[in-house]
Amino acid sequence: MKLLMFNSLEDEVDVIKQWEKDHPGIKIDANQETITPETVDLAKGYDGVLTQQDNLIDDPVVYQKLHSFGIKQISLRTTGYETIDLKEAAANDIKITNVPAYSPRSVSELVLAHTMWLLRHLNVATQRESHNDFTWDNLQAREIHELTVGIIGAGKIGSEVARVFKALGANVIAADPIHRPELNSVLTYVDHQTVFEQADIITMHTPLLDSTYHMVDQDVFRSMKSSAIFINASRGAVVDTSALLLALKNKEIAAAGVDTIENEANIFSKDFSKKQQPNQWLDELLKLDNVTVSPHIGFYTDIAVKNMVEISLADALSIINGKHSLHEIRLPIED
Ligand code: NAD
Repeated sequence: MKLLMFNSLEDEVDVIKQWEKDHPGIKIDANQETITPETVDLAKGYDGVLTQQDNLIDDPVVYQKLHSFGIKQISLRTTGYETIDLKEAAANDIKITNVPAYSPRSVSELVLAHTMWLLRHLNVATQRESHNDFTWDNLQAREIHELTVGIIGAGKIGSEVARVFKALGANVIAADPIHRPELNSVLTYVDHQTVFEQADIITMHTPLLDSTYHMVDQDVFRSMKSSAIFINASRGAVVDTSALLLALKNKEIAAAGVDTIENEANIFSKDFSKKQQPNQWLDELLKLDNVTVSPHIGFYTDIAVKNMVEISLADALSIINGKHSLHEIRLPIED
């Protein structure tokens, strides 16, 4: 059997080699191309293909050609599948799979890193140290176990965030329309307003939906404690970024940690050291010493990359072998 991995990254090479060793008789070739009408012919002669979510496949020709090559699936190594034309895939008998979660723990540890960095004023300390100023002014901190951590959206990632902070002795509260009994020993469910008003650390973990777009706006920031630390490692547009900047500048909140920001596509993961990056909000956030920014790396750990590759390959094998994968994306049912 031969599989072709499109859009492959350097960090996947070792995992792929190990997987090939563990699966004798299956060969994987990898390239850096996205699947497009121009590149789809590369898949000829392969039994299956894999790609990532930043590979827009909106041209029917791609699905038609894959079908004509006898290929029955496209396995995404990532979660989002907005880039896939599900109707066209189904019309050509091509199943789409995704990896719903690579490592929820990885995001939760990044949230912890932002929180502790901000809580201990390490931005301020390192900036002073860069010109040999080792003074203590304004560096007195609070300890995590005296604080309340408030989670908006306690799903796969939010519940890991809850476990991490609970293990450190924090009081954990969460707002989520779904109450999971297995989390009762970790967190207390409350409503959104209680999280926003009472938490010392507020961390966002909802999907981006119509109902969550800009759910944290100017009014919500105004309802937070002025000592609150706000973290967003979910999706940029869950937060009104202009309102976040205003809240920071007006000292309505104390600090913010940002792993996702509106209009981050084509910025995060790219190098702008020699040219101006185009996101005005990001520029402004980076100037503030009470803000930490990471370039959407919450997911990016060794375990997550291993899971992305291994789970997507397992999905591909299932479908090629005529079985089902739990990660098949179904076409939405229309009225
Ligand atoms: P999930 O579906 O497992 O959990 C989301 C939770 O949010 C669910 O429990 C849902 O009931 C809840 N929810 C939905 N609407 C809500 C609302 N209005 N208020 C409160 N709760 C609400 O998703 P997940 O895998 O935990 O992912 C959470 C977010 O993290 C997503 O936005 C995802 O895109 C993002 N993410 C970020 C990274 C990163 O690198 N920073 C990596 C993976 C996922």
